[in-house]
Parts: sequence; C-alpha cells; structure tokens
Amino acid sequence: MNFEEAHRIRNLPPYLFARIEKIVAQKKEAGVDIISLGIGDPDLPTPDNIIEEMNKAIRNPVNHQYPSSVGMLSYRRTVADWYKNRFGVEIDPATEVVSLIGSKEGIAHISWCYLNQGDTVLVPDPGYPVYAVGAILAGAEPYYMPLHEKNGFLPDLAAIPEEVAQKAKMMFINYPNNPTGAVADETFYKEVIEFAGKYNILVCHDAAYSEMAYDGYKPLSFLQIPGAKEVGIEFHSVSKTYNMTGWRVGWAAGNASVVKALGRLKSNIDSGVFQAIQYAAMAGLTGPQDSVEKMRSIYQERRDMLVDGFNKLGWKLQKPKATFYVWAPVPKGHTSESFAELVLDKAGVIITPGTGYGQMGAGYFRMALTVEKDRIVEALNRIKDNIGKVLF
Ligand SMILES: *Cc1c(COP(=O)(O)O)cnc(C)c1O
Repeated sequence: MNFEEAHRIRNLPPYLFARIEKIVAQKKEAGVDIISLGIGDPDLPTPDNIIEEMNKAIRNPVNHQYPSSVGMLSYRRTVADWYKNRFGVEIDPATEVVSLIGSKEGIAHISWCYLNQGDTVLVPDPGYPVYAVGAILAGAEPYYMPLHEKNGFLPDLAAIPEEVAQKAKMMFINYPNNPTGAVADETFYKEVIEFAGKYNILVCHDAAYSEMAYDGYKPLSFLQIPGAKEVGIEFHSVSKTYNMTGWRVGWAAGNASVVKALGRLKSNIDSGVFQAIQYAAMAGLTGPQDSVEKMRSIYQERRDMLVDGFNKLGWKLQKPKATFYVWAPVPKGHTSESFAELVLDKAGVIITPGTGYGQMGAGYFRMALTVEKDRIVEALNRIKDNIGKVLF
C-alpha cells in the first residue's frame, strides 16, 4: 500500500543530521571510539530523593488512575511556590499553571490554541526546532527573527517589518538560549512586553535552562518583569534542572486565559502526567537543592575546560553564562556541515552543525557539555592532533 502523508507532515523541515548519522554509524561499525558533544541531554543521574519519592508514589494505587489533565492542584501549588521562592513571582495555582508532558509538548501544542491556517508567528533563528514545527503543524507560517552575535543573540524587535508585526499572533523566545548559550536581561524582556502589548502578540518564553547557570549568575524569569502576565506565558520543566529528561514532566505558567486554553486543548488530546511522576517532580522542586549546585559546578568545570581548550586552538570564545552549550564559529573555509564532518571523520568527535537550528546557524556549531572531563580532554587532544594545525 502507498499511504500518502498529509501536507502537515510533508511540510516539516527535513531532518538535517541524516548525513552525519550515517558517518557515525560507519565509524562505529569500524570500531572508532566516538565522543559525542552533540546531545543536549544530561549525562548525570536523577537525584536520589526524587527516585525515592517515585518509588513511594508508584506503590499508591490512587496514582494508577487517570490524572487530572491540567495537573494535581498540589503539583500546581508546588510550581507556584517555586516561582515565589525563586523569582518572587505570584502565580495562582488554580488558574495560572498547567502541567505538561515535558515543556516540549506544551510548546508544540500552544500553536494549536492560537494559530489558524496562514497566521504568522515570530520564531528565533537559530532556535529550538519545536517552536517552528509546532506552528507549521498548526498551519501557520514562521517569520524567523535572526539572532545575531553582535546583538548578544537577542532578536532585534525594531528590525521586524511593521506589516509582519501587525500580522503576528505569537512570539517564541528562549533565554538562557539553546543553542547559543546567550542570556537576556530585564531591558530585553521589557522591550518584548512593550512590543507584544503594542501589536497584540502572545509571548511564549521557554525557560528550560533557568537553573543551569554559572559564575553565580541567576537567570530571570520572564514572569518577574512587570506586565509579562498580561502578554504571555513561560514554559519550564524539571528536565534539565534535575536530570529528568526521560520522565516527561513540565508546566506552563502565566496568563490565565492562555493557561486555560492550553489545558482545554490538552484535555482533548492527552490525559495529563502520571501522578507518581508529578510527585517525583514535586520532590525535586521542594527537596534539597545541593544536587543542582553540584550540577552547576560540574558543567562549569567542563565549560571552562572546553572553552579554554578551543581558545588554545585559535578560537576566541566567551564562556557562556548559562546552559550546557558552547556555540562557536566554524573556521574559515568551512560550512557548518563540512566542519562537523571533518571533526567527526578525523577526530571521531560529534559536534552539531549550527544549521540544525535554522539558517542563521550557518557558520556555527554547537557542543554540549554532556560528557565527562576526561572525554572532553580526549576530544580536544584528538582535534588538536588531527586537524588543529590546519584550522586557522
Ligand atoms: C531541553 C529543552 C527543553 C526541555 O524540554 P522538556 O520537554 O521539558 O524535556 C525545552 N526547551 C529547550 C530549548 C530545550 O533545550
């Protein structure tokens, strides 16, 4: 049988890493010891107190039934308390929080709530692919806001053409940023809120990396900026903070009508997050935070090692203040793809071509700090010995 795929799936951007994955498979076949700096997934385990809570909760039959599709009230209260303690933000647990099956799920679904066929949505480029994909699945058309290094990888809102701003219904932003590692300050968020108010745009801020920051830097929540709740919501999850990417639990918080719309959509699609997992996430958010402190110091050490190592090879990289990504330009004479292939072929190291995150990622590559220090040293040595001489 020949099943013709729907336009909505045919219109999805092509999978960009197919070629690299093919080379990886060949290398592995040939017995090459591959070091992957490609994956944005913590290599550290979920903290024990969270596992213990899961163990307990899973034995309670009450938790075996369908959960509330918007999350237990106790879960939403915990999220609200966390916002109060961490950012000084007041959230009404009854109306301003909805649980998500990981923030990615909510990011993909929010477009279904607010975008019709042909609508315009503002999406950062480079950016986490789900913003554009969710919008495309809803039939909308992304307008890509370029993130330039000279602007600290913040979108230049004044550069968005007037007619695009007039048409746009939603905007996605994400700080601390994947893939650039950039952070945003209060001035930027204020500009976003003013812009959104002027053009009646729903702002969706993705704060997945708010707890993964270094050198004492504390990222802001979009919601702590006055007026944010009028114009938007914030997506968050325990995935990166507590090494829980596989558990699939997160939330959206902020504007009550938007939270309600997302909850309404979700009640028609999924049936919420397994309650035992909600309890586990609550244990993370309310329990001892020393594991988070330890995570920061581990990534900070890896970051310093990787950035210092690359700078010795001729790069001039700044150390990112947050996220576990290092975003770097490719050497002259290379494209993102040719450099990623060279590094894989000659050094057995996987880096991600910047073009995987949008056209503006051209000329860059991303490295994730998700391997142990000795593997970072090994990766640096291999790059130095096998290709370092020809780089600059
Ligand atoms: C990892 C990540 C997330 C988290 O996704 P979950 O679905 O909550 O696991 C969200 N946004 C960005 C930009 C990420 O890199």
